[in-house]
Amino acid sequence: MADFVIPPPAVIAVPVAGGGAFPVRRVFCVGRNYAEHAREMGSDPDREPPFFFMKPADALLVGGADMPYPPQSKQLHHEMELVVALGEGGSDIAEADALRHVWGYAAGLDMTRRDLQNAAKKEGKPWDMGKGFDHSAPIGLMVPAAKVAHPASGLIELKVNGEVRQTSDLSKMIWTVPETIAYLSGLVRLAPGDLIFTGTPEGVAAVERGDLLEGVVEGVGTVRTRIA
Ligand code: MN
Repeated sequence: MADFVIPPPAVIAVPVAGGGAFPVRRVFCVGRNYAEHAREMGSDPDREPPFFFMKPADALLVGGADMPYPPQSKQLHHEMELVVALGEGGSDIAEADALRHVWGYAAGLDMTRRDLQNAAKKEGKPWDMGKGFDHSAPIGLMVPAAKVAHPASGLIELKVNGEVRQTSDLSKMIWTVPETIAYLSGLVRLAPGDLIFTGTPEGVAAVERGDLLEGVVEGVGTVRTRIA
């Protein structure tokens, strides 16, 4: 074992429904992957190539824990998403072969400091501090694909304080899960433990302290957090 000069960081893991934990390596996120959301963000939803940004793995918030309202923002937005978890990696993965690399799925929230993201966009600066901040990725229990198969359609919905804010269907993704894996694996070598947040449907909006967020992806599971 290496002679670490500081204590090594803990492995980040997402609890699996029925027991066990999925160790996380990296968190990739797809931008503008539902046409109606692309439109509400002021973009043309035609099939331009998918684009990606990242969050650090330790931005994941598990177990339904409260999410602290983040610093330096007055506009915290929710983005309800299907999360794909890779059990196998690789480069240049063929679309037809992509789902074989998927270990499982979860429901997740790509929480966004929209004011910081918008300011960055305007100046052509990186989005990282708008997207990859502490606790910015609440995620529910992981379910194995062996149990739930590979959902290509089904309800994706988020309620805030019991009222529906986002509702759509997984079939409305511009880039499907296999297409996304194939494309991303041409940009970087994917690895076991990588997560992909697959983008959010329309209806993103601000939340305030005290709000309860409850999301569901049909056939996959739920995600829940309260803004503290
Ligand atoms: Mn997103």
